[in-house]
Amino acid sequence: MVEAVVNASMLSDPDYRLLQPFWDGLRLNYGHILRSPLFPPFFALSIDYTWVIVFTIIDMYLCDWTFFKTAKIQKDRKVTWALIKESLKLQFFNNILWIYPMALVQLIWVPDADLPPLAPTVWEVVWQNTVFFLAFDLYYFTAHYLMHRIRWMYRWCHSVHHMYSSPFAAAAQHLHPFELFIVATFITTFPWLFTTHCLTYWLWFVIAQSVSYEVHTGYDFPFFLHRFLPFYSGAPAHDMHHMRPLTCYEPWFNYLDRIFGHHISYSDLKKMGAEKAKRYGIYADGDEAGLKKIN
Ligand SMILES: [Zn+2]
Ligand SMILES: [Zn+2]
Repeated sequence: MVEAVVNASMLSDPDYRLLQPFWDGLRLNYGHILRSPLFPPFFALSIDYTWVIVFTIIDMYLCDWTFFKTAKIQKDRKVTWALIKESLKLQFFNNILWIYPMALVQLIWVPDADLPPLAPTVWEVVWQNTVFFLAFDLYYFTAHYLMHRIRWMYRWCHSVHHMYSSPFAAAAQHLHPFELFIVATFITTFPWLFTTHCLTYWLWFVIAQSVSYEVHTGYDFPFFLHRFLPFYSGAPAHDMHHMRPLTCYEPWFNYLDRIFGHHISYSDLKKMGAEKAKRYGIYADGDEAGLKKIN
């Protein structure tokens, strides 16, 4: 009973393991599943499908509720089954091309994971996930900017993601296979540079995938992160990027976009003169000629 009481001095102790009872429960009850080399890809896919299912239900059946109507960013655009199906088709193709073969390779060559008896400390989970988050944000900002500025990279690869000018959850995974490869490789392998506990690693998957869906929901809910975290962009900025592709390149934060002058909000857009607003962030006709557009 005495051990169950967590006080401030225990939390400030860098070696205190708040997560130990949770980790012990996981190891004891689900150790046989967690050790399997198939667990990480299965876990990552289940995060994807959970968010796609939740937001598809919202878009298809609840979007007329006042709460969702108010939060919808591009209020004049409606998500339809046809749009969702198009996105899921590409996601399924990408899974066949990358995710299932990688899972098979892991099953054949990678031995069962070792589950350490000790849980990570809270400090370790927090600092490592903060580093992973900032590193991916910087990495994708750079890659994303280049994919827009190098004409053939945009036309060959990144334009696939820009088939949608009004995003919705399933469109988060509407990526050219090469883009999925560079994104998934970074998210999967960057934590390998550190001594990362598997619990921290799995939590990183939850965070990275969930915020990627958050920015693509097409909604600006009152509980979204950008309302609490300074320099966090969230859905409004990424929605703006899909409408005006030469703005808001940073995926999660916006400090780099602000430094380099790419950040723009709806109120900024409204304040601009009509001619400038029309031109701001739009490609020249030739850059987009012949590219497929879905919405
Ligand atoms: Zn996007
Ligand atoms: Zn883009």
